Amino acid sequence: MSFEVLGLAPKILQAVKEAGYTEPTPIQLAAIPPIVAGHDLIGIAQTGTGKTAAFTLPMLTKLAAAQAAAGPNRRTRVLILAPTRELVVQIEENIRAYAKHLPLTIATVFGGVGEQPQIRALRAATDIVVACPGRLLDLLGRRNGDFSGLQFLVLDEADRMLDMGFLPSIRQIVRQLPKQRQTLMFSATLSKEIESLTHEFQNAPKIIQIGRRANPAETVTQLVYEVPKHLKTPLLIHLLKEPNMDMVLVFSRMKHAADRLARQLEQAGIRTATLHSNRSQNQRLRALQDFKSGAVRVLVATDIAARGIDVDGISHVVNYDFPMHVEDYVHRIGRTGRANAIGDAISFVTNEDHSELRALERFIGRGIVRKKAEGFNYTAAAPAYNPADEERRHPRHQPQRGQRPPRNDQREQRGPQNFPRPSSGPRPPQSGRPQSGRPQFSSGQRPPSEPASGNREGGNERHFPSTAPRSGGFRRRFGLR
Ligand code: AMP
Repeated sequence: MSFEVLGLAPKILQAVKEAGYTEPTPIQLAAIPPIVAGHDLIGIAQTGTGKTAAFTLPMLTKLAAAQAAAGPNRRTRVLILAPTRELVVQIEENIRAYAKHLPLTIATVFGGVGEQPQIRALRAATDIVVACPGRLLDLLGRRNGDFSGLQFLVLDEADRMLDMGFLPSIRQIVRQLPKQRQTLMFSATLSKEIESLTHEFQNAPKIIQIGRRANPAETVTQLVYEVPKHLKTPLLIHLLKEPNMDMVLVFSRMKHAADRLARQLEQAGIRTATLHSNRSQNQRLRALQDFKSGAVRVLVATDIAARGIDVDGISHVVNYDFPMHVEDYVHRIGRTGRANAIGDAISFVTNEDHSELRALERFIGRGIVRKKAEGFNYTAAAPAYNPADEERRHPRHQPQRGQRPPRNDQREQRGPQNFPRPSSGPRPPQSGRPQSGRPQFSSGQRPPSEPASGNREGGNERHFPSTAPRSGGFRRRFGLR
């Protein structure tokens, strides 16, 4: 089946061809015709199935037709709401690639960056706005933006937005939109809550459901390297000599440790970036961009910062620190094996991690292969790395008298450890101490990643390379036989 039969405008077909897509994915086949025909739609599908193109291509077709008939518009016509900044940026990149032959304007709105460019974009009646609900509501509340001519509302990853507590913000935003509009909603699951959302926001929606992609855990080779704690960094540097480790996502539990590890890798001549919540929004976007473009080979990330990242082509995930939560392990290794269903997930396991490893193996229902790195000296003494040198080179904040020192080893804040544990035997110390005053997230819930207010650290201008579409392993990747 080809894209030509789906009723898309010629300029969009051209962009799709230039993106290298040769045939529509199942969700694109199912969703594009009803959207072109003007129906509301609920799509039950996960990220990675091609759903962004599934909702964008038909909307662009209809916008292009309206523009040809009535000339340029003075009001925003499409609003796409998504749960995280990373997802907003990803959607924007995709739309830019698909709309490259159309005279349409696109803007993103999310917290953590300066709001002036976003206010200007809203006031300029940008055609397509991709936004996180929190910041958008904030700006709309100050009378920025005119959505009275809105034709399309898209709620992407609706289940995740509910998990993250965005429902009240979404309701307030939707109240400001015209009732006469097409509403498209996507969610990984069809729960009672999602069903009630469709009644609230949609009009007789068509429902399409696309089967899950292959569980990455089945397509990723999982390996454990047992290693003394002091040799974790030398082992990583040793493994990185392997040229096929060309796009490596390394997970560290702690933010400062992530920075330190990145510096050590850089000192060993390995181009490395870091992604964690102490970095400004612009630094995080730059790190992701450098990783995607290949400017850096290694990205060291913490769990929360890495949520929602959809980077194709990651060759290896390295659990430098063993994950605190079983679902973190599944999320982490799901970062590889996305593009062409191959990839290795390597976990470093020290003496302290054995009970967690056993709990994980029980949880995933299989043992993980133990491997030894060839040519690596497991009996070496601690390397000649001196933390004092490190401190001199990169001095950290010194507390004033009477001030509490910062916890340099502070982990990304989240709920208590929830590996299933054997009922007998000593309990290891609880290191992921819940932080008072912050919501705790139980298994399956996700923490909000959009801050309540912007930190004004940067503008909203980004120059991304357009999404590099991939064709390799298409059938396997999208579950086609
Ligand atoms: P999404 O589910 O929208 O996050 O898409 C996942 C990935 O699939 C993105 O990298 C897209 O560029 C890619 N993609 C979307 N549609 C197609 C297609 N028809 N053929 C090949 N790749 C596609």
